[in-house]
Amino acid sequence: MEIIRIPRIMREASREYLVRGRTLGFVPTMGALHEGHLSLVRMSKEENAITAVSIFVNPLQFGPSEDFSRYPRTVDEDIEKLRNEDVDILFLPAETLMYPEGFATVVEVKELSEKMCGRYRPGHFRGVLTVVAKLLIILRPTRAYFGQKDYQQTVLIRKMTKDLGLDVEIIVCPTIREHDGLAMSSRNAYLGKEQRAAATTLYRALSQASAAVKAGARSGEAVRAIMQAELSKEALLTGIDYASVFSPETLEETPEIAGKVLLAIAARLGSTRLIDNMLVAP
Ligand code: AMP
Repeated sequence: MEIIRIPRIMREASREYLVRGRTLGFVPTMGALHEGHLSLVRMSKEENAITAVSIFVNPLQFGPSEDFSRYPRTVDEDIEKLRNEDVDILFLPAETLMYPEGFATVVEVKELSEKMCGRYRPGHFRGVLTVVAKLLIILRPTRAYFGQKDYQQTVLIRKMTKDLGLDVEIIVCPTIREHDGLAMSSRNAYLGKEQRAAATTLYRALSQASAAVKAGARSGEAVRAIMQAELSKEALLTGIDYASVFSPETLEETPEIAGKVLLAIAARLGSTRLIDNMLVAP
């Protein structure tokens, strides 16, 4: 595995592959890699000649009171995991090379980025889209791989690449879960033992809501109530940003369930904010 730290070198390397007609799959991450990340890597390896992974804890996407400084950084273990997966390139840029002094450009998708998590994390998606746009321009991958776990992010990235005419196929991969249903996340490392046990409440609430929709529930309000009732049993939850039923396209809450819907929850356990979602069709 080649480790590249300089954006210019990364750009030259990927251009080389592309002129030789080789397909390049790209998996952007913030590191602290787990099976969720590795599932994206495996999908990319299946579909492309070359697979590149990036690890970059992007300061632009953290709010001033968020966890940028304590975000888990496990680069040595990450390198080991990527070597075991036979990844071709690891792009590991320094912050000063991604955002040199005077960096002043942002990428924003209006409206969609203000829904759901956007309401609670102002500026978050602007940071995500700016770094993803920059990475896609540096690497020019054939395909880029993202997890459904961050559903809103996938909608915004699709919209951004379409609007800007970036020539890349966006592939969304299923959420990988722990044995008890908890969606894998680098942030799960923050959870204490009791909080870790409590965290499965998100999965339970989504599963019950999903079962209700499959069984014929058609009222958004009724399905919301099912999720709220399950979450309210968990005393360790310190806040619920949302637990609701959304349109998978507009990300608006849906009063009526007519077609496929997105069930999604964002909730806090102490200072750890967890998100999870399921797509379900009646
Ligand atoms: P992150 O390092 O958290 O920014 O995540 C990098 C990529 O991995 C994003 O596209 C995430 O959606 C994806 N990802 C994170 N957790 C999971 C998971 N449990 N299952 C599948 N993909 C995931």
